[in-house]
Amino acid sequence: MTSEEILEWYEKACAFHTKRAPGLAIGIAMVDMCRARLGPVKEKLNAISESPACLCDVIQLMTGCTMGNRYVKSYGEIGRFALTLYDRADGRGVRAYIDLDKISASKTPELHKFFLRQRSEAVKAGGEERLKSGDLVVKEFLAVRDQIIALQDVFIEKFGKSEMLPAALCKSCHESFLCHNKAEECASCSGKLKYYRPVNG
Ligand SMILES: [Zn+2]
Repeated sequence: MTSEEILEWYEKACAFHTKRAPGLAIGIAMVDMCRARLGPVKEKLNAISESPACLCDVIQLMTGCTMGNRYVKSYGEIGRFALTLYDRADGRGVRAYIDLDKISASKTPELHKFFLRQRSEAVKAGGEERLKSGDLVVKEFLAVRDQIIALQDVFIEKFGKSEMLPAALCKSCHESFLCHNKAEECASCSGKLKYYRPVNG
């Protein structure tokens, strides 16, 4: 993918993400390099994001692996700026990550600060300064992208079609729910995942 193509995808990704974030441009190049190295897949392309932020949106936009079709999983608790694309049929995959040792603090200072989360207070505060810094991060990244993105051939430990749980009727709310371990109540009624309370009552 050329730098111009990355920038075109970047505009689409910013629209989807509803804000400008330089990590999107970096993720676009990572997805492109992973896909090129992986080559054709036997079955479905699946993906894993190791970051809770930008990468999931880039994967969803570029590959058609979505949260809804369950072809992408987010392991955001790992928290690394890395992603893996793989073949669901055999678990063969390619992982892309950032080689921090290759990022020069003198030649690409804003990119360096971006990855170490050391951008200035004014940038962290948002607004115009943040947008300017973001543009600079993208510009610096495009000049060195092939050197700082590292690829790793991997096998996924657990691959294949993800299991769809059987449906059951919750004995408390009487809604149909996907049933783990023969539970009689949904996770909301059992209190395991109670995320709301009714306004009246
Ligand atoms: Zn229930």
